[in-house]
Amino acid sequence: MACPYLEYRDANGDLTFDEARAYCTAADRFVQPLRADICNDRYELEHATHCEIYRAHADGDDGAGDARAEDARADDGGAPIEGADRS
Ligand code: SF4
Repeated sequence: MACPYLEYRDANGDLTFDEARAYCTAADRFVQPLRADICNDRYELEHATHCEIYRAHADGDDGAGDARAEDARADDGGAPIEGADRS
């Protein structure tokens, strides 16, 4: 089952996409394809195990710390989430 924080959006502000893109409502950011595999529990990946953002929310943290860390690494507010925790 896919992560409950996952949505697919076909627009970002004034920008529209030909295909809907994965969006994390927990981190309030678009998700890169590698991360979307985790979000969708594809292959051997599970969002509850492999996503630190999901785990932070499940633990009662609002995940803002993760989002702020991603902001620090991203070029702009619309940048996708980088990387994946495969521990
Ligand atoms: S990045 Fe993590 S919290 Fe966000 S939708 Fe994907 S699995 Fe869920």
